[in-house]
Amino acid sequence: MSDGLRPGLLLDRDGIINERIVDGYVTRTDEFTLCDDIVPILRWAKETQRPIAIITNQQGVGKGLMTEADLTTIHDHMRHVLRHRAGVEINAIYVCTSLAQARDPRRKPQPGMILEAIHDLRLDPSQTWFLGDSRSDAEAGRAAGVLTILVGNHSLDIADVVVPTLAEVLSVLQG
Ligand SMILES: [Mg+2]
Repeated sequence: MSDGLRPGLLLDRDGIINERIVDGYVTRTDEFTLCDDIVPILRWAKETQRPIAIITNQQGVGKGLMTEADLTTIHDHMRHVLRHRAGVEINAIYVCTSLAQARDPRRKPQPGMILEAIHDLRLDPSQTWFLGDSRSDAEAGRAAGVLTILVGNHSLDIADVVVPTLAEVLSVLQG
């Protein structure tokens, strides 16, 4: 491990922190439903002193379905929920609001936001996991050189680890 670099935990938001809205977006706090199975994962990260960052595409802003202010309100609410339910503080939230067709290098499957997190939080990529539920999460994580774990019904070769549900993630992280 390079001097001073830390293992971290990077998380996709929709489908990992909160229940995904199929073909839609969380645009209000009352649409934010915590995934219960993320709670022990967050507690593990805190216990093992891993910085936690969220890496999320939110093109609902780019589409005009919500404003930046709406998104800030949702993320303030998310921080509040995670503080109370898991006792954790999120170290950083990285958001890309660009439309898919804008080809923003920050937007997953591009690695831009993950690279920002590695730099800002002084993470060791070889000991940092990115947990997501979409192929684009695994692609972004691989391009950034971190370990990837994907939840859901995916082919096994697209991430370092693929598990059916969030409930199986903790034992993988614990090694
Ligand atoms: Mg997702």
